[in-house]
Amino acid sequence: MFDNLSDKLDKALHVLKGHGQITEINVAETTKEVRRALLDADVNFKIAKEFTNRVKEKALGQDVLTTLQPGQLMVKIVKDELTQLMGGESEGINLSGKPSVILMSGLQGSGKTTFSGKLANFLKTKKSKNPLLVACDVYRPAAIDQLHVVGEQIGVPVYSDRDNTDPVAIAQAGIAKAKQDGHNVVIIDTAGRLAVDDKMMEEISNIHKAIQPQETLFVVDSMTGQDAVNTAKAFNDILNFDGVILTKLDGDTRGGAAISIKSVVDKPIKFIGTGEKMEAIDIFYPSRMADRILG
Ligand code: GDP
Repeated sequence: MFDNLSDKLDKALHVLKGHGQITEINVAETTKEVRRALLDADVNFKIAKEFTNRVKEKALGQDVLTTLQPGQLMVKIVKDELTQLMGGESEGINLSGKPSVILMSGLQGSGKTTFSGKLANFLKTKKSKNPLLVACDVYRPAAIDQLHVVGEQIGVPVYSDRDNTDPVAIAQAGIAKAKQDGHNVVIIDTAGRLAVDDKMMEEISNIHKAIQPQETLFVVDSMTGQDAVNTAKAFNDILNFDGVILTKLDGDTRGGAAISIKSVVDKPIKFIGTGEKMEAIDIFYPSRMADRILG
């Protein structure tokens, strides 16, 4: 459909090939293409602009035009910068608690319940942990059912209390249950709403304060583009979360939200969700995401 960025840069540089050192004019031309690629991938405009300015500085003075494929060299510069921007090496999650408590946060439909199951399954099968899932959505009975279905699929027990309307009390009881039954990880799934609102923020903040989790994760749908950034900021202001989970990367999003979120909240993206199945979870690798964004 579209040329990838590398092809576009090759074209932009083609005219000036053989003229020796790269000049301000052809750098401007190619960074325009880079910026367009970033905007196409849903990177926030301001962040894309700052980014291309940095690339511009780096590219100037490099002997790009004497190489056979100047586009490739520019892409390398861009890719290295992007990778760095998204956090360099991937970071794990803190499992030092006894038990380790992981609190999930995010809007309704972002993929929290699904990811809670995926993470429990990942920790069970890859890290030999013995997790307990806790259902803290007191508004939607279907959400509790959903977590039970997920738990059954992966063979992980689920704590819920349908008679209790206090999510803080349920979270605390879930942790007590985990201690009693010898679970070393507790994953707490919480209620989300369709948009950020005060009541939801107060509730998640109360749970957070009461249980003091080792790890608070913010789950966000990568398909929501620019909105993802505002949501991330709102949750981070309240929770100062430890990491971001980017879901639904199996869709046709280029994943630019990863750059924008990381730039705005400066928290690592830890995992990505790549499908509805319990196995569709991957550790986040900035360099792979850079490849995807550049197309
Ligand atoms: P919650 O309201 O935040 O708990 O969101 P859910 O876990 O219920 O997910 C909402 C919808 O998104 C469900 O239909 C999930 O199957 C789907 N979903 C979650 N994660 C992914 C993913 O990584 N890829 C795809 N394609 N769908 C996902």
